[in-house]
Amino acid sequence: MNQNESPADRAFRAEVRAWLEDNLSGAFAHARGLGGPGREHEAFEERLAWERHLAAAGWTCVGWPEEFGGRGASVEQQVIFHEEYALADAPARVGHIGENLLGPTVIAFGTPEQRARFLPPIVAVAELWCQGYSEPDAGSDLANVQTRAELGDDGWRVTGQKVWTSLAMEADWCFVVCRTEPGSARHHGLSYLLVPMRQDGVEIRPIVQLTGTSEFNEVFFDGARAEAGHIVGAPGEGWRIAMATLGFERGVATLGQQVGFRRELRGVIELARRTGAIDDPLLRDRLTRSWSGLEIMRLNALRTMAGVAAGAPGPESSISKLVWGTWHRELGELAMDVLGAAGLVADGEPYDLNDWQRLFLFSRSDTIYAGSNEIQRNIIAERVLGLPRERRGTE
Ligand SMILES: Cc1cc2nc3c(=O)[nH]c(=O)nc-3n(C[C@H](O)[C@H](O)[C@H](O)COP(=O)(O)OP(=O)(O)OC[C@H]3O[C@@H](n4cnc5c(N)ncnc54)[C@H](O)[C@@H]3O)c2cc1C
Repeated sequence: MNQNESPADRAFRAEVRAWLEDNLSGAFAHARGLGGPGREHEAFEERLAWERHLAAAGWTCVGWPEEFGGRGASVEQQVIFHEEYALADAPARVGHIGENLLGPTVIAFGTPEQRARFLPPIVAVAELWCQGYSEPDAGSDLANVQTRAELGDDGWRVTGQKVWTSLAMEADWCFVVCRTEPGSARHHGLSYLLVPMRQDGVEIRPIVQLTGTSEFNEVFFDGARAEAGHIVGAPGEGWRIAMATLGFERGVATLGQQVGFRRELRGVIELARRTGAIDDPLLRDRLTRSWSGLEIMRLNALRTMAGVAAGAPGPESSISKLVWGTWHRELGELAMDVLGAAGLVADGEPYDLNDWQRLFLFSRSDTIYAGSNEIQRNIIAERVLGLPRERRGTE
């Protein structure tokens, strides 16, 4: 917590805390802690009901301007909201892709009609979104997108395959990066389309993850329809819009996770006390380094957020992604080392993992999604340090 919080921010913190205390009770008392890292599969319907309850009280999209249904909360207040949310052990959010990625993109680049159509259902958690970027041959090299769309009399027709599409099975809509200029290459000729998921022409196939659950999917578009006006930016401007969305993903979206990380680290320290690992000098060293890393991360997150307040996040937000992704992956490894040999045994059949095993397996993905560590380093090298561009292929 920031000791220098203004009286207004302290009052805001008290309001959030009191509301969460009052509302994570009764029907929602059992919802505390649901859906944490590696447990995204858990209690989806209950978490959805909770999030709609949150929305009805005006606690979704708190950082959005009031004219779009948000609270216009300052960056400090957004931090406070997410800290209190995590401190209360409130359920993991289900509408975060719409709230943190598509919404800010439509606010920044959408038409008035698009804002009126798409923002209110995100605020109300009435429509859920997924992100259609990655393809079998376009992950880090996103400019290699091959999914294509053609504009006809009945709107856009989208054909191609996406992969690793998180929560596609729950989503009503997908923001799809696709090629709309035949014969175009790389980042030219791409567009950013808003495609309904519940239609013929969209097939979703779950992918089983290391954790044994399936939160991400392959998505096949076979002539799927999107309305002619459901394109953000002009045709061919998709790359610019897609990059702006990634900026939101790498920056604002990670506001609340520090408190969750702190709780996990405290849990690992407790575990070390129970297993006796606390007496191992090397593990003590790693626990201490982990705590220091968390403190540094917090200061950097606050600094990044101040930059966000001044406009869209810049390439410096890659530092945050790089640091937290690596820190969290290492925490998963540390938890397994603290568990020792017991970490290798599943509690039950067929694949009943405990929280630490899930943390270990899920956190492998933290240095991959939203841009891998190597890609973040490339961004920092080229756009922050001004180093020469990486050589690619035949260049
Ligand atoms: C949990 C999870 C959820 C995801 N959710 C979504 C989603 O909802 N929507 C979506 O569109 N995508 C999603 N993704 C996909 C994610 O964005 C990609 O996995 C990521 O961009 C990496 O692409 P790739 O898997 O194709 O790996 P590749 O790009 O093939 O990379 C393989 C390896 O090579 C390295 N590498 C690649 N290029 C370079 C380079 N130029 N320099 C140095 N090293 C390089 C990478 O760092 C990586 O280690 C998700 C991924 C995960 C793990």
